Amino acid sequence: MRDWKLPWQGACRCGQVRVGVSAPPMVTMACHCTGCQRMSASAFSLSVAIPADGFAVLQGEPVIGGLHGPTRHFFCPHCMTWMFTRPEGMDWFVNLRTTMLDHPGRLAPFVETYTSEKLPFAQTGAMHSFPTLPPLEAWEGLIQDYAAWVESAER
Ligand SMILES: [Zn+2]
Ligand SMILES: [Zn+2]
Repeated sequence: MRDWKLPWQGACRCGQVRVGVSAPPMVTMACHCTGCQRMSASAFSLSVAIPADGFAVLQGEPVIGGLHGPTRHFFCPHCMTWMFTRPEGMDWFVNLRTTMLDHPGRLAPFVETYTSEKLPFAQTGAMHSFPTLPPLEAWEGLIQDYAAWVESAER
């Protein structure tokens, strides 16, 4: 088994909000959708899915920004960094923005989503690509494939 060296910590840009991770990542992702392009001010957003009971806000009070509906995006109230997402209907995981973590370097994206909206120059190196989101029934297999992928090489 890979040693993930848990727990992890992370923070927004200003450091007022700190988060902690105590469970291994389920899967890593890059999203090319135009919403993520705008919110991340980049070609795509990076995220790592953490089991909900392995994620905690350690300090500060994140506020909702971005989508205010059933899917909620959480931001630092001071520096406005987009930190994590609680996706609609999937409250068993939290989608943490990978670059909040103190050591994000081993969390290369395994799945990329919304390649239909991808900027022509954007390259993520992801193993699996989907034009929008993967079908719900695909997630279990993707999570298993990710576990095998991280075991097969030091990533
Ligand atoms: Zn902040
Ligand atoms: Zn997106």
